[in-house]
Amino acid sequence: MKFEFLRKVNKKLRDFFKENGFGCDVCGAELFDYPVHRLCADCEGKLQRNDGRVCPKCGRRTVAEGVCLNCKSNMPSFTQGFSPFVYRGESASFINRVKNGAPLLAAYFAEQMADDFLRKYPDAERFKREPLLLVPVPMTEKKRKQRGYNQAEELAEGVCEKLKASGYSVELDIGILQKVKDAAEQKHMDYKSRQDNVSGAFHVHKRKACQGRTVVLVDDIMTTGATGNECAKRLLGAGTKEVLFLTATALPELKE
Ligand SMILES: [Zn+2]
Ligand SMILES: [Zn+2]
Repeated sequence: MKFEFLRKVNKKLRDFFKENGFGCDVCGAELFDYPVHRLCADCEGKLQRNDGRVCPKCGRRTVAEGVCLNCKSNMPSFTQGFSPFVYRGESASFINRVKNGAPLLAAYFAEQMADDFLRKYPDAERFKREPLLLVPVPMTEKKRKQRGYNQAEELAEGVCEKLKASGYSVELDIGILQKVKDAAEQKHMDYKSRQDNVSGAFHVHKRKACQGRTVVLVDDIMTTGATGNECAKRLLGAGTKEVLFLTATALPELKE
């Protein structure tokens, strides 16, 4: 009860500063046109954009033309992935801040994610006629309580606002998927171990709400794509028409 109250107060404060901040969300440098710009030019310049050659399936930066090696060996069940930034250097360090105590920074990433999605998705105009369903990758209730927020939800909220403001028809539902078990730390696992690790970790809680819909699954980081693949599998199994995977950053293919 006490926790829920604090969470709401924190959320209200974040929403206030999202619109009324006055400094760069990373370094605090004064910004007169906030929130038109949420980062100063210096900080924004440090981010590595995921432009150039990307995998047509998962959206990560690739070393050669065509589908990446990761997708070749384990074709994901989501239709296509999108990430505005590469999970490297400062882009990796900034997105890690979002989950480690700087949720306000999610607003910047979310706007970039919405732009990237609209730019790369071949028929974005379709979502002016047919509503998109945004679903953040969930955390277990225990983890969420520890952290006080779920960074994927923060990102999905921002993406929703930006897409709506651009004339798209979007709904956000944070209760469609549930994470029912905390998998072991995945950092040093290969794809196969990650896939086994996340298998059965997610559960579709509201089957009816996702049936026949186009879902955009939202998360902060795509590494192997195992989490996105597992969530997509569950959603498709529950009758979702199509799953797209939108993350703030994606690990590039091997060495660049
Ligand atoms: Zn800055
Ligand atoms: Zn790929």
